[in-house]
Amino acid sequence: MINITLPDGSKRQYEPGITGREIARDISNRLAKEVFAISVNGEVQDLTRPIHTDAAIKLHKWDAPEARHAFWHSSAHLMAEAIEKLYPGTKFGIGPAIEQGFYYDVDPGDSQVITESDLPSIEEKMLELARQKEVYQRREVPKKEALQYFTDKGDEYKIELISELEDGTISFYEQGDFTDLCRGPHLPDTSSIKAIKLLNVAGAYWRGDERNKQLTRIYGITFPKQKMLDEHLELLEKAKERDHRKIGRELELFTFSQKVGQGLPLWMPKGAQLRERLESFLKRVQRDYGYEPVITPHIGQKELWVTSGHYEKYGKDSFQPISTPQEGEEFLLKPMNCPHHCEIFKSKPHSYKELPVRYAEFGTVYRYEQSGELHGLTRVRGFTQDDAHIFCRPDQLKDEFKKVIDIILYIFKALDFNNFVSQISLRDKEDHSKYIGSEENWEKAEQAIIEACEEKGLNTIIEYDEAAFYGPKLDFMVKDALGRQWQLGTIQVDYNLPERFDLEYIGDDNQKHRPIMIHRAPFGSMERFVAVLIEHTGGKFPLWLTPDQAVVLPISEKFQDYAEKVSKFLNNYDIRTLIDGRNEKIGKKIRDNELKRIPYLLIVGEKEQESDTVSVRRQGEADKGVMKWSEFARLINQEVERQLSSIDSDIH
Ligand SMILES: [Zn+2]
Ligand SMILES: [Zn+2]
Repeated sequence: MINITLPDGSKRQYEPGITGREIARDISNRLAKEVFAISVNGEVQDLTRPIHTDAAIKLHKWDAPEARHAFWHSSAHLMAEAIEKLYPGTKFGIGPAIEQGFYYDVDPGDSQVITESDLPSIEEKMLELARQKEVYQRREVPKKEALQYFTDKGDEYKIELISELEDGTISFYEQGDFTDLCRGPHLPDTSSIKAIKLLNVAGAYWRGDERNKQLTRIYGITFPKQKMLDEHLELLEKAKERDHRKIGRELELFTFSQKVGQGLPLWMPKGAQLRERLESFLKRVQRDYGYEPVITPHIGQKELWVTSGHYEKYGKDSFQPISTPQEGEEFLLKPMNCPHHCEIFKSKPHSYKELPVRYAEFGTVYRYEQSGELHGLTRVRGFTQDDAHIFCRPDQLKDEFKKVIDIILYIFKALDFNNFVSQISLRDKEDHSKYIGSEENWEKAEQAIIEACEEKGLNTIIEYDEAAFYGPKLDFMVKDALGRQWQLGTIQVDYNLPERFDLEYIGDDNQKHRPIMIHRAPFGSMERFVAVLIEHTGGKFPLWLTPDQAVVLPISEKFQDYAEKVSKFLNNYDIRTLIDGRNEKIGKKIRDNELKRIPYLLIVGEKEQESDTVSVRRQGEADKGVMKWSEFARLINQEVERQLSSIDSDIH
């Protein structure tokens, strides 16, 4: 018999060769219907794959990314099967699951094309095949046989993929008449794929390289229930309206230039103002919490990244070294700020009395992402982290965690993210050998995080085997106005870098000790945070943050001079005010400026000019009537103060 350990720690005994699906059935029939994948000792697998040795397992239901991944990946295979039936001779590139659904890159050949108008017939074919309850069958194949199969089939894309794989690591998945090269995992069969929507068709170069042939990329999404698909499509409609790329363009916040390079956002004046305001807001809070600013360069010697371990881990898959005319001199763009901060810590001796030391920097980092992965501001190649590193003693860890949690809660409140959860990532319960750092320190750190979250009353989930090898962490996921979940802030304990950089402080025993390092970024990155903020608010930012707070609309050219006087007055009161002096009808000006999401519209004409007043309209509300300039200035400043002071009173 083998011992199967469930996530709650309970153990069950089974004959060797038992499958995840059978274990699920053994627990309850209902559960068996709800699970789509299984993790066996941390590795996600097919529910139908036999388990031969003692193992810790986790069954994944729809709400787990692992389940959706298996579901959507299986759906990609199903789509490929349907396409092969409808467009014989089609060759297949790659077909992965993505965050929302899946895609497949296909080459229908020179005599066939697939366009969006063909999608409904492919959907229909998929449904027809799904109902036949085709089984996804895994088969390990020798490399030679794998190559032969796709040579016979004439699919040069798969041949290229296989030729890069090592013999003995290759598996096929078959369902119906369709066979694909794949690592899995997959669903047991197609019958749970009940609702299908193919979303769009795009061009994609084979392997993301424009020197290669352009393939047809077909995106789709599937669900186990029609109702889930209907809800999803409704959400997509709403999300389109709030797409940060669309609103970013409309509000002139940021842009991209093919010439500068993809994935490299260019912040336009209004976006830069917004970002600066967010930065100074956080800087002020951090000052109150004892952070000290530091500034470090965008590159570092290759050696630095060898020491930190980043080179070994990411070197091949990231930007390559920058050489100088000096022979042997090599630098790397920084993918993280931590090593630079370690060197600052190291630049002078520290006593236990000085700790914790907290270095903060809005540090811009660069990470290579494949062009197909890039998306607006949420997936970019260069971004700025609201980064800080705390160097502390083990006995200070819990307090530091609580303080960082305070900062994160403060930010969420100021920006109206009221719906969020946090996840604590701890070690594998069974196997502690894969982690660096002493057992005692880990024990203490994990306990400290759990207690800190409890004391702060956070809505927390605990995940085992999710910690990095160098330390446990706490992540924050916010739900936006449409209920979509975004990962934002993170707090990460690190035993590794202090070791690698040989950091130390002198304890009260006069001996040298290693500090613990905490990485934390409440926003995550400025780019991602602004993207999420746009999608959450639909571009209607809080008054304190919004780039333009008011716009003066003269009803005709005659009142342009008066409009300028008003705007000057308000700007002197620190109210960010524009004038719309275009020669347009007032109705059009009002509509246009409402589209720009400017909170206050100030209409001025004969009546207002004679009485030194403005007619005030609040975006989306009724007219507020006629006011003296100073009265309006007071109104706005009070509103801003209210927003910020309600936050301030919560500090400490
Ligand atoms: Zn697959
Ligand atoms: Zn860091």
